[in-house]
Amino acid sequence: MNLSVFDLFKVGIGPSSSHTVGPMLAAYRFVTELQERAQQDAVARVQVDLYGSLALTGRGHATDRAVLLGLMGERPDLVDPALAGGIVDLIRATGRLRLAGVRAVPFVEERDLLFHEDKSLVFHPNGVRFTAEADDGATLLSETYYSVGGGFVVKEGESTEAVPANPVEFVFTSAAELLAIGRATGLSIAEILMRNERTRRPDAETEAGLDRIWSVMSACIQRGMATSGILPGGLGVKRRAPELYRELNAASTPDPLAVFDWVSLYALAVNEENAAGGRVVTAPTNGAAGVIPAVLGYYFQFQPGATAAGARQFLLTAAAIGMLYKRNASLSAAEVGCQGEVGVACSMAAAGLAAVMGGTNAQIENAAEIGMEHNLGLTCDPVGGLVQVPCIERNTMGAIKAINAARLAVLHGDGTHRITLDEVIETMRQTGADMQAKYKETSLGGLAVNHVEC
Ligand code: SF4
Repeated sequence: MNLSVFDLFKVGIGPSSSHTVGPMLAAYRFVTELQERAQQDAVARVQVDLYGSLALTGRGHATDRAVLLGLMGERPDLVDPALAGGIVDLIRATGRLRLAGVRAVPFVEERDLLFHEDKSLVFHPNGVRFTAEADDGATLLSETYYSVGGGFVVKEGESTEAVPANPVEFVFTSAAELLAIGRATGLSIAEILMRNERTRRPDAETEAGLDRIWSVMSACIQRGMATSGILPGGLGVKRRAPELYRELNAASTPDPLAVFDWVSLYALAVNEENAAGGRVVTAPTNGAAGVIPAVLGYYFQFQPGATAAGARQFLLTAAAIGMLYKRNASLSAAEVGCQGEVGVACSMAAAGLAAVMGGTNAQIENAAEIGMEHNLGLTCDPVGGLVQVPCIERNTMGAIKAINAARLAVLHGDGTHRITLDEVIETMRQTGADMQAKYKETSLGGLAVNHVEC
């Protein structure tokens, strides 16, 4: 499958790409299929079965809400986060939902939305099955979907390779091939990706789409910096971004390390919005949604000569790197731990920043490699099954690390280095495969079990 930059960067809703965005899309696909088969009016009952990681951390990651919204015909990119809570509350209060917004059926969560915490499906740990029944109990349609990370959804029996491959000008399956294309054509990584996007739509549309991605990221930062209070879910986590924003604006003595605080501020703002179920860009996941906006925020605030064109170059370069992880490893914490979320976001952001700092393709590849090398082994152990602790702060670390990686590669390196990006991606994949399941988005290990709540 040839991915687009807009597969890596998708407008969505918090708090999780695999547990919120993916299941909502799966539910939406299910009701759309019922409509296409003209079966919707015969449906008397719907049952949803969640398996594996979706069952274990689904409540904290708002999978239940996402499934209800998807069955109502809502999509993650279009649903209004401000209205989503009201829609869910109404379903819960009345015990009924409207399939695709039309066909009213009874839906009582205790009976119709089942969390199978002790069972995982074979293909992927994030499995969800939807079953629609007629009045007489006969099954009209039953489909199983897998939320495979970063908001990507695969239906049972449909391999990712079955998705029609868009013909692109430059096919690359590894960083080595990407670099070879660059050497042969003299194109930068961003230019290679732009040429591939040209096979899908005119350049002006791609540029407008990239500008929209940055504007949604930027709006998320602004909302996060302006919104105070306690995050939902019961952990009592206080939003920190507004206070930090006030402190940084009020600082009277120059602090050479204040740049760290600004970068952290942007990451906190995005991830607090994400944790609250707000509008975010999946980049490449929701749990790691703050890393790239924070580094882009750094670019605009601290890099002289930053432009909108530079932000597009950043996003294209970062997307090219993200595609390599999606193809050769995973973006799913349920498969590889947080390496696949904050680790990949860090690697993508390092590459994007290296590009706009004027780095060569070799230096960009080096930056991406450094960004992942020091996230290898990162586990996923969210406390209370919520995308809050350690997730929110972890994004600040990912962003700072990305900036350091880009500076090491571009300002203090010439692109030659020992470990290749392909080697580090394969190492990340193997490390994820070896990682025990309790560290892979199940909240059965790590901080999730060692933190004692008073
Ligand atoms: S620990 Fe990392 S991978 Fe796990 S939910 Fe948090 S951000 Fe996502």
